[in-house]
Amino acid sequence: MENRNSWYRRLPKVDILIDTEFSDEVEQYGKSMVTVCVNQEISRIREVIPHLHTEAELMQQLQDLHSHIKTALAESQSRHFRRVINATGVILHTNLGRAPLPEEIVTRAMQKLTGYTNLEYNLQSGERGERYAHFEEMICQITGAEAAFAVNNNAAAVLLMMSALGQGREIIVSRGEQIEIGGKFRIPDIMDQSGCHRVEVGTTNKTRLSDYEEALTENTAALLKVHTSNFRIEGFTENVSRQELVTLAQQYQIPVMEDLGSGVLIDLSRYGIKREPTVMDSLAAGVDLVSFSGDKLLGGPQAGIIVGKRKWVDLCKKHPLTRAMRVDKFTVAILEEIFALYQDFSFAISKIPVLSMLTADEKALRKKADRFCAQLAGLPSDYHVRTVVCESAAGGGSLPGEVLPSVGVRIENARMQAGEVQSKLHQAEEPLILRVENQGLLLDMRTLFPEELDRAAKLLKDQLK
Ligand SMILES: *Cc1c(COP(=O)(O)O)cnc(C)c1O
Repeated sequence: MENRNSWYRRLPKVDILIDTEFSDEVEQYGKSMVTVCVNQEISRIREVIPHLHTEAELMQQLQDLHSHIKTALAESQSRHFRRVINATGVILHTNLGRAPLPEEIVTRAMQKLTGYTNLEYNLQSGERGERYAHFEEMICQITGAEAAFAVNNNAAAVLLMMSALGQGREIIVSRGEQIEIGGKFRIPDIMDQSGCHRVEVGTTNKTRLSDYEEALTENTAALLKVHTSNFRIEGFTENVSRQELVTLAQQYQIPVMEDLGSGVLIDLSRYGIKREPTVMDSLAAGVDLVSFSGDKLLGGPQAGIIVGKRKWVDLCKKHPLTRAMRVDKFTVAILEEIFALYQDFSFAISKIPVLSMLTADEKALRKKADRFCAQLAGLPSDYHVRTVVCESAAGGGSLPGEVLPSVGVRIENARMQAGEVQSKLHQAEEPLILRVENQGLLLDMRTLFPEELDRAAKLLKDQLK
């Protein structure tokens, strides 16, 4: 026992240890973090000393001290908000942050953001500028709109349009378009919130132009169209086209506003995807004010983009809510870069992950699957790995009912507890999110970035023993 007491004295002094052996780490992690980790490790050894039998065991503990502290420091850098590998095949996975951004534009944007920027500074005049000026002209060029700007998200954009145009007056909307987007966002609630008087016309399945016409009064501020982007009604239905609605509204000199939801800029039907109304379709039909999301099929940052006739866009811009919903400089930087890619549609499709994933053809998906199967070669022989056909989804309430035929890799083993493996994969530093189907693991190749294949394979090989 006497011996043991002297063992405690062999433990290094915290301050001296830090000063002599961890000066680089102090530089990298800060002194307080290093002190915490060193203290923790020394306390741990102090607690095990009563259970040690020989001096050699103590020496081993002291030898490992250094590497244990380094590991603890590295782990202290682990963050709650992480990059994850999405193998679910859902491209716009709202829980996984919707649209992943092109690396090169994030890098370019970040370089600006570590310094000061001309966010609201007009370099020509040397006076105050507008944060929207960085992308307005480009959006107008691409979409043909007269004016454009952006707020925090499309939910905000819709509330803003209704408030700016309709406060204290009437907005007419079809009962077939009184939809819920998810996350408690319901069009009728937002209308009430905006302070407009909600005038509902038609029925769930049928609304005619005459329904709108009969509801028009002196106090009508606007007609609202909502793109029913997350569901489909089939059968005995009738709705009014944009064109008809615009013609009616123009007769009475009132504006038409549209919540377009996803807001595609490119007609993707030539890639075998169902034709969605584009922002340009809506503007070309004469809709006065259109709003859409930045992080759905556009493939950019979270934002609500408002485009249309200058008169109405300006009215929205001037509304007091705009200040409360304004986009920050991160969004401004990324939005400008995303729209710059849209100046050439084939460029946009190859560079914007959402669009490349959406349009990936079977050949490319098969190639990825073959590569991935080869990378899984080291798995124990009772694991059955094979390429399968599966179905991906656009997600995020976009392209409802549209399934995208895809290629996946399925891993099976009668002794595997798929659910348990799944939760272990979620605990990784870079978690892997996949589907569990019929007791097997399924990875849809569509949403995996090529450079993630290696990392996903390594995670699986570490977990499947
Ligand atoms: C998704 C969606 C919204 C909400 O957009 P956010 O950018 O998520 O706020 C509003 N309206 C429609 C029709 C949508 O599809």
